[in-house]
Amino acid sequence: MIMKKDIKNLGFQELKDSLLIMGFPSHSAGQIFNWVYKRRIEDFNLMTNISKEARQHLSKEFFCSRVRQLKKEVSCDGTAKFLFGLFDGHNIETVLIPEGRRNTLCVSTQVGCKFNCSFCYSGQFGFKRDLNIAEIVNQYLSVSDLIAPAKITNVVFMGIGEPLDNFSNTIGSIKVFSHRQGISLGKRKICISTCGLSPKIKELSILNLGVRLSVSLHATDDNIRSRIMPVNKKYPIASLMSAVRQFLKNDLGPVTFEYILLHRINTSNEMAEKLEKWLRGINYKINIIPCNMAKSIYKPPREDEVNCFLRELKTRNIFFTVRKPRGQDINAACGQLKARQINSCIKK
Ligand code: SAH
Repeated sequence: MIMKKDIKNLGFQELKDSLLIMGFPSHSAGQIFNWVYKRRIEDFNLMTNISKEARQHLSKEFFCSRVRQLKKEVSCDGTAKFLFGLFDGHNIETVLIPEGRRNTLCVSTQVGCKFNCSFCYSGQFGFKRDLNIAEIVNQYLSVSDLIAPAKITNVVFMGIGEPLDNFSNTIGSIKVFSHRQGISLGKRKICISTCGLSPKIKELSILNLGVRLSVSLHATDDNIRSRIMPVNKKYPIASLMSAVRQFLKNDLGPVTFEYILLHRINTSNEMAEKLEKWLRGINYKINIIPCNMAKSIYKPPREDEVNCFLRELKTRNIFFTVRKPRGQDINAACGQLKARQINSCIKK
């Protein structure tokens, strides 16, 4: 028996190559992309502008995977969190954040995470596996079908997992998201968020894909950052900033830095002073995020603590925005819906 392949795991060029090998015109790749990603037709027999013979052949060789919606929660601020089931029984989370005319989709790239950032829930059940291209793109396709006629306008790789640790599938999915005959999302509407894998940021800058980059910084001193984010022991802030500078050589800025305020951990004047030093000469944006955690070793910063830190940034002419915590009532921060699902299963 031939094992059918998931056509959504093929990039455009790979699909063209497969068609040629099967003896069909490679221009059908554009037609197939159009059916699958634009018209959402997944039955090859319905792809009527392709020859009957090719359709039959495609049906024998390929299938179109889907992710199964297991749960959906909607926050009072409109943020929606989806739990999707994968073919092997693993679950992933996807979050939709509506904001004015923008609908940003936050996609996961791995089941679990290896990096164990101490404020994040994603790694608490360990790392299971990478998502393939189809599983990343299917999060978009499923949510897109669910919210039609509204449209997803932006995709951020800020869900569970570290996108740069699943480099080739993250890049493969970006190519589908941005392909003219695929989902055709503008490259500047796509943002990769990383905990700071310096060598991978450099690899990304060599590819010069045109997508945005966001860095989870959260502290400006190596000791403290290593405590909050163990990845810093391997790639300290200096190596991270040098990779960011290389990324910015392609003029793809600004780079966004995420900075969660954690009570008495990263809110000192010294932290602000070091931030000023690191940001010198960098085209940046900073999102300050007052911490958004259901149960955590960290406490939310006090109001005067936040104000004092923000004042310090202003004094140093550091431009920032304070991000409203979104979806707090549904625990929309990374990994929390899955954590609750698993915890409630454990309790049962
Ligand atoms: N591994 C990637 C992408 C996943 S985390 C990365 O580290 O960037 C993406 C972002 O989610 C983090 O930077 C952080 O801003 C946010 N995040 C994670 N846990 C959070 C929490 N408990 N509260 C608020 N934001 C959180």
